[in-house]
Amino acid sequence: MTRVITAEVCVIGGGPAGAAFAARLARLGHDVVVVERTAFPRPHIGEAMAPSIWTVLDLLGIRDAIAQAGFVRVEKSVLRWAGDTDEDVSPPPGRFGLMVDRGRFDAILLDAARKAGARILQPARAKAPRAGAEGWLVPVETGEGSILIEARFLVDAAGRYSNIRKTDQPTDPRTVALSGNWRDTSLGPGPNRVEAGTTCWYWGAPRPDGAFCAMVFVDADQCHGRRRGDIEADYRARLSESLLLRDCLRGRLEGGVRFHEATPHQSAVCVTENLIRIGEASFSLDPLSSQGVQAAMNSGLQAAIVVHTMLTRPVDARAAMIFYRNARKDTVERHRAAAARHYAAVAGMTSARFWHERAAMAQASAAPMPLRVPPMFAGRARLSHDVRIADVPIIERDRVTLRKGLHHPALARPFAYLDGVAVETLLERMAQSDSLEALGHQLARDTSRERGQRMVSWLVERRILVASE
Ligand SMILES: Cc1cc2nc3c(=O)[nH]c(=O)nc-3n(C[C@H](O)[C@H](O)[C@H](O)COP(=O)(O)OP(=O)(O)OC[C@H]3O[C@@H](n4cnc5c(N)ncnc54)[C@H](O)[C@@H]3O)c2cc1C
Repeated sequence: MTRVITAEVCVIGGGPAGAAFAARLARLGHDVVVVERTAFPRPHIGEAMAPSIWTVLDLLGIRDAIAQAGFVRVEKSVLRWAGDTDEDVSPPPGRFGLMVDRGRFDAILLDAARKAGARILQPARAKAPRAGAEGWLVPVETGEGSILIEARFLVDAAGRYSNIRKTDQPTDPRTVALSGNWRDTSLGPGPNRVEAGTTCWYWGAPRPDGAFCAMVFVDADQCHGRRRGDIEADYRARLSESLLLRDCLRGRLEGGVRFHEATPHQSAVCVTENLIRIGEASFSLDPLSSQGVQAAMNSGLQAAIVVHTMLTRPVDARAAMIFYRNARKDTVERHRAAAARHYAAVAGMTSARFWHERAAMAQASAAPMPLRVPPMFAGRARLSHDVRIADVPIIERDRVTLRKGLHHPALARPFAYLDGVAVETLLERMAQSDSLEALGHQLARDTSRERGQRMVSWLVERRILVASE
């Protein structure tokens, strides 16, 4: 017998994206059910967190739970990249990242969703959802029998291998990670290590269980169709060429070499009227960023606001979808450009295809418009003829809404507020000012003079403000 459950929102996948989404949306008063295939804790790739993760953990109210979980604090990091020297790339004093056990990390996140009021079905495997009369029908298999979830809105948080995603666009050169955990090495406890090799790059860090994790990122062509034994031999040979990680080979490899698909990708569609994709079901970043988990949680938090808007204020549903598409585009492009800059630094010193293909992602991604800083001018300012004023979707008090935005070719995205000043106010105060200095005073009327001058020079630098003829 199939049991039927109804829910307003069904989330498939209880990883960082699904858990962050469910916690936020449940707190906004919605009826959320999460379906997670595996029992937690379970192992998962993606264990290094940058110091900026703490901001996201604060938003979810789980800073203390994570701080007390016994994960490794990452206070030191060493980079050996486009040169012969080791660079100290540690966070500033007082700030630190984490090396977590993803089994326990993900369990704490999912528990936060449960405490916020989301129902969690686990272990429970969602099968292909189908359209129902009022939304979705999601068949679920559990150890205790079959369930059918009837939900108005569906969230695909099932990760890179989501069985709900139909079309996927590999965006960048195909990469795989060869990964091994080493015991009895001299490398842990010690800093995280990143190094450029001849046709690969390396990443290594001490894990909370005392092992040292060493990964080698290689071109996927190097591994496809090869036997497991050959892949392990290749992994060991590459480690022997690494200056920062070769000491692993003096230790003991525990459990063999694992193979992970690591090519950045994007799903063709990230949001529709009744479906949203979050985390790696929507996009994955180049692992060089070490920020996949944080990006997945951020996309879950943004999606919660988007879905809340769509469910409670349908008039803004379109704006909410545009907001979500733009946010994904911005994240993907920002990370792609940053990764490509790092690859280009090495490509400048070698002819190896591995580096040149990855460096080329920079040309493919949108380069910011180069700015020549013009002299400040005297007299009245006006808006450039390239400026367009049109509505933009922004988040305001837990919902996406439309506000007047200023569009200009020098801006990657239009803005609705400049340092807290609304575009309408900016336009009014421009009309009242007969010099740049006066405009600075007007813009910062309630705060400091410097703040007003900063806003004015920002607008002049981008040629949004020009001298009136
Ligand atoms: C080699 C490599 C190294 C990486 N290193 C890092 C790193 O150091 N730091 C970092 O931040 N990120 C790293 N990442 C990225 C990180 O792993 C991901 O960004 C992150 O796990 C994405 O979270 P998610 O919630 O979107 O997906 P996932 O964490 O994959 O969670 C998806 C969940 O959905 C469940 N699920 C799937 N299908 C179903 C179904 N049909 N029914 C029910 N449940 C289902 C799964 O069991 C899983 O729990 C790395 C990735 C790779 C490939």
